[in-house]
Amino acid sequence: MTEKIWLSSPHMGGSELKYIHEAFEGNWVAPLGPNVNGFEEDLVRFLGVDVQVAALSAGTAALHLALIQCGVEYGDEVLCQSMTFSASANPIAYQGAIPVFVDSETDTWNMCPTALREAITDRLAKGKKPKAIIVVHLYGMPAKMDEILSVANEFDIPVIEDAAEALGSSYKGKACGTFGRFGVLSFNGNKIITTSGGGALVCHSQQDKDKTVFLSTQARDDAPHYQHSHIGYNYRMSNICAGIGRGQMEVLADRVDARRAMHDFYVDIFKDIKGVKVFSEPSKDFYSNHWLSAITIDPGIAGKTREELRFAFLEDNIESRPLWKPMHLQPVFESVPYYGNKVAETLFANGLCLPSGSNLTDDERNRIRTVIGNFFRG
Ligand SMILES: *Cc1c(COP(=O)(O)O)cnc(C)c1O
Repeated sequence: MTEKIWLSSPHMGGSELKYIHEAFEGNWVAPLGPNVNGFEEDLVRFLGVDVQVAALSAGTAALHLALIQCGVEYGDEVLCQSMTFSASANPIAYQGAIPVFVDSETDTWNMCPTALREAITDRLAKGKKPKAIIVVHLYGMPAKMDEILSVANEFDIPVIEDAAEALGSSYKGKACGTFGRFGVLSFNGNKIITTSGGGALVCHSQQDKDKTVFLSTQARDDAPHYQHSHIGYNYRMSNICAGIGRGQMEVLADRVDARRAMHDFYVDIFKDIKGVKVFSEPSKDFYSNHWLSAITIDPGIAGKTREELRFAFLEDNIESRPLWKPMHLQPVFESVPYYGNKVAETLFANGLCLPSGSNLTDDERNRIRTVIGNFFRG
């Protein structure tokens, strides 16, 4: 059997172990220490905007703490992009709140500003003002932030940006994750850089960052004994994981270049294949890290389906995956409200994510090219 080609696998830069050794030498084997502080500083510098960053145990934890700080409580409603990974929506349920799902638009596959307005107007008419809006930059593609922020500001609802897949992406020259009241980053093993598991919350004031760190370290009040006046969480990032993060930050710009080159590789392969569209930036305003390259296949034109291509890849031990199944179609969210048409549904029916790792070799790219060539010729 040939070696497996993964959709997206960890890609170490070389300095990660140096930072881990430093952690051991200083005995900072704990969820605090020089690597945590250093990683946060690296992220602030990379984002290039006046923000504060709190390193946490996961992107999901960051979303949870963002919702708490937006005042989301039991029974509240939160608007959330339907076309996303379940981790965008699950923290709404952790709060006992109700997700209200919003469809995507076809340019960026992200939250449709028109459907967002419709959702807000209808929820207000039903007597409930949504507490927050969770917008996602899917596969690294920036959402239409001007339009979304303009609707959000008109109704005075805070935006939480799920930029878990979009570190290194920007919209009109400004880094994704820095537009909303809060921004969420993830360093899970499959993301553009990894800390093995981890996340961060991007904040816009020292006060918000301090609150985030406070909540993520069990909400300990200032006292010699353990004193608590809030419910706390154990969500802070380990100093060992942060060491991996510092090493990864040294190569992040290269990782973005490599992922963008994978996108160009697919654009070249599919340029003469009818009925297949490679997911690409709609204009110069959008700069995607192309965390995952993705295509949509129109079976009516291509004469082939997404599933058939997925199986052809599988036969050569190459991983590919259907796009995120929209949240409003998930059994667990069956009964919650949804606004939109069938954009996300159609994308899910015809879309496929392709191997996109920054560590793919020329041989692996040749295998991918051959499978696609044979499939569409055959
Ligand atoms: C990965 C991901 C998350 C969750 O991040 P974790 O670090 O795995 O908890 C949230 N939202 C999206 C869109 C993601 O892709």
